[in-house]
Amino acid sequence: MSDYDRIPVVRIRRGKEKQLVRRHPWVFSGAIDQSSQRADESIPTLVRVEDVSGSFIAYGWHDSLSHIPVRLLSWDDSIVPDIAWWARMVSESVRRRARLFGNTRTSAFRLIHGEADFIPGLTADLYGTTIICLVSARIAWEMRAVVVQTLQKLLNPSLIVVSTDSAFCGIEHMKLQTEYYEQGALVDTPSISHVSFQEHGLHFTFEIGVGQKSGFYCDQRENRRLVASYTENRTVLDTFCYTGAFSLYALASRARSVTAVDSSKQALETFARQLAANVDQKTIPTDAKSSVTLVQADVFSYLREIDAGVYDCIILDPPKLAQTKGQVARALRAYKDLNRLAMEKVRPGGIVATFSCSGGVSREQLQTVLAWAAKDTGKEVQMLEVLGQPADHPIRLSFPESEYLKGFIFSVL
Ligand code: SAH
Repeated sequence: MSDYDRIPVVRIRRGKEKQLVRRHPWVFSGAIDQSSQRADESIPTLVRVEDVSGSFIAYGWHDSLSHIPVRLLSWDDSIVPDIAWWARMVSESVRRRARLFGNTRTSAFRLIHGEADFIPGLTADLYGTTIICLVSARIAWEMRAVVVQTLQKLLNPSLIVVSTDSAFCGIEHMKLQTEYYEQGALVDTPSISHVSFQEHGLHFTFEIGVGQKSGFYCDQRENRRLVASYTENRTVLDTFCYTGAFSLYALASRARSVTAVDSSKQALETFARQLAANVDQKTIPTDAKSSVTLVQADVFSYLREIDAGVYDCIILDPPKLAQTKGQVARALRAYKDLNRLAMEKVRPGGIVATFSCSGGVSREQLQTVLAWAAKDTGKEVQMLEVLGQPADHPIRLSFPESEYLKGFIFSVL
């Protein structure tokens, strides 16, 4: 008898197996036959998931403390997702991005996009020579050693940071914690404090452990370029600007002026530093500083207070407004408010670039909300561009939740 014959079985209730057979990777507690429910364990364990008749569905990792008790990894009876499997998935994920390496103008992109790259609860972003891993499932935290070793061997980064994602610590029973690895070895404090990198030739930086999420939003890389193509000689309002990436792109495209609004003072300070660095590097015009206004404010209040007709282009890139399915209805009202305000305030003929990064809000829902907002304002709105997430943030068809970033550029006539 091999070790694999001893893998404990989790049985799926009748009728609850359909999605799982179609390779959806999440098994919720309601789908599990209680008689096969595993006792509480302090560490995640490898399990074999079967249907009521005992037929194999997939191998997964069971974790009684997770809000998703089983995450499925391998649908092939002969491929057990052991530690070697994790190493292989990390390698394959990196290799799929081969064409993105060595680009002298863009040195930041995503290496691992969680379940969409078959690795549950883990994203890894490359920023120059630093890799930032964000963990949203206990199983990924348990497996961090093999993830770090594999990334180190493949890419030889100067630093790997592994943090638990604060948005998931509560539901996953994880502590908020960060580890730093240099040359693959755990260190107390990293030898660098800031990460610097380029995106489409523009210079960016953030302080390790201080920024939001992994420190930067590389998922908007292609959208920034497209939005910027509408900004030459325009007055631009960049709301939820964070560290000003959309603004810098607009300045590089010779926007007439940029007003950037965010509630975070720290983010605006980083923006100011990046602005100066890009002027120094001559990636944006030398007079750009004088055409930029930074505003620390709540975007909803700011949009209500400004006069109509000041801005030719308004960018709306709010944080994830629906963290869970239960928050979708409220989030839709907020998206509607934001877009209605932008439609009212943008100069006639101007454009609005609007985004949602809530996985629970579909593209159809976002478009419907825009139609309601347009109706309320009594304006005609033309959709010009449909935007999504870049290829380093792939969408796995069997896992629709991996399609999270949706956007539109529309013109208000
Ligand atoms: N557009 C940015 C990313 C935006 S992330 C980029 O391209 O990098 C969302 C930002 O919204 C964060 O910086 C957060 O500080 C800010 N934020 C969240 N709620 C806000 C509010 N009500 N008013 C202003 N800023 C807000």
